Amino acid sequence: MSEVCKDFIRKSIDEYYRAVLSDMSNSERIYDYPIIGCSKGNDKLYKFFKEDIGEFYWTPFEAFSLEFDNVDEEKLSVLSFVFPQTSKTKIANSKETSYTSKLWATNRLRGQEFINSLMRKLVSELKTIGIRAMSPTLNDNWRNHKSDKYGYASSWSERHTAYVSGLGTFGLCDGLITAVGKAHRCGSIILEHEMEYSIRDYDSHVEYCLFYAKGSCQACINRCPAGAISEKGHDKLKCRAYQREVLRPHIEKEYNLDSSSCGLCQVGVPCESKNPV
Ligand code: SF4
Ligand code: SF4
Repeated sequence: MSEVCKDFIRKSIDEYYRAVLSDMSNSERIYDYPIIGCSKGNDKLYKFFKEDIGEFYWTPFEAFSLEFDNVDEEKLSVLSFVFPQTSKTKIANSKETSYTSKLWATNRLRGQEFINSLMRKLVSELKTIGIRAMSPTLNDNWRNHKSDKYGYASSWSERHTAYVSGLGTFGLCDGLITAVGKAHRCGSIILEHEMEYSIRDYDSHVEYCLFYAKGSCQACINRCPAGAISEKGHDKLKCRAYQREVLRPHIEKEYNLDSSSCGLCQVGVPCESKNPV
């Protein structure tokens, strides 16, 4: 990243974490500090995703052009943030075998608000120093789509963005395995400012998964109560059906929360908190 911009963003994140923690109603940290990666807006992988996932998938240029005119594609950079779940949240969910823990389900809701609010703050503060910026998943046009090849997909994927930005590779269960593991949530912003780009220290998109790298592990297969993970990978339909038909009613009744979050395959596995390879 450009040093000035990098320092500016780190300072904004520090201030945000401090402010949230000093608010007594949010006295418990939702996520640990994020790791950050950066990719070039015209990285060829973004165009590849559009061809591979579906025409509906946005390149950074297309996303940025939804909010701004006269966009200089050459200057676009994409910042990706991986927010690690805290130890407390991971331990709570790793004790469960069928249903999401209350803490995980609560943090799934609070955590998305936390990330959205931070992305809005960064976008707004970058504007004060003359840098145009936006967050694709916060744009009103972002939505879920059906991909002919992959089933459920969306206009912009935070995990794919993190992969392009050097932060990690995919696992057997489809989660993104990073230096801080797979139990996390991601966010991203696009800015019209040239930065120093992160190096992708992997050759394949599944390099950090023990199953693909060494033919071992498969721990996530055993963690999934829905039978949605196998040696063939992640069955999105089974996963979604379990979340909607089993987890949602349980979370509503037991925790009084409007959520169908799961995350059981993200914890209690070798890639939970680190790159196991
Ligand atoms: S639990 Fe093992 S097999 Fe599953 S994604 Fe992690 S490393 Fe790969
Ligand atoms: S999120 Fe839950 S249901 Fe889906 S694959 Fe992971 S453990 Fe299975």
